Amino acid sequence: RTGYIAIVGRPNVGKSTLLNHLIGQKISITSRKAQTTRHRIVGIRTDADAQYVFVDTPGFQMQHQNVLNRVMNRTVTQSLSDVDVALFVIESMRFDARDEKVLALLPRNQPVVLVINKTDKVSDKSTLLPFIEKVSASFPFAAIIPVSAKRDSQLTELVQEIRRHM
Ligand code: GDP
Ligand code: MG
Repeated sequence: RTGYIAIVGRPNVGKSTLLNHLIGQKISITSRKAQTTRHRIVGIRTDADAQYVFVDTPGFQMQHQNVLNRVMNRTVTQSLSDVDVALFVIESMRFDARDEKVLALLPRNQPVVLVINKTDKVSDKSTLLPFIEKVSASFPFAAIIPVSAKRDSQLTELVQEIRRHM
């Protein structure tokens, strides 16, 4: 079985890192600087019983509506059509206007999984639950999975959730 998965979110939330760790290869480009990923990058994870085709989208560029930004936003929207599931990635304890703008563009007729990344940066895990409740009220997410892409934490659970939508 083959599934197609879009990875979306504002710059710097860890989309490329997540893709790299999901497929176990250094294909996507990660950086502290936003806008490193200018093109869609596809990564394939092959398990014994399933194949996962991931599309890492460039971040939305909201501040300046120049031609490049418009093209990049269009690319994000195109990535979302025809996927089995979209992963909407945010950072732990941070959900701001930029995230909300990306969320507003997500399809409501397709499953969207909320991926709360960088949980390794949260020292007091009890603060995560109220944060999750706040964010989950803003969209009918199919599931909510807190992860640390960098530390490979909860990625197996994320793949299992993706599998349910293929
Ligand atoms: P993108 O712009 O969404 O593709 O984000 P990147 O994957 O390029 O990551 C942006 C920054 O966040 C980089 O410095 C990453 O090392 C860092 N990062 C990504 N995932 C994690 C994580 O799980 N934990 C921590 N602490 N940092 C992360
Ligand atoms: Mg990136």
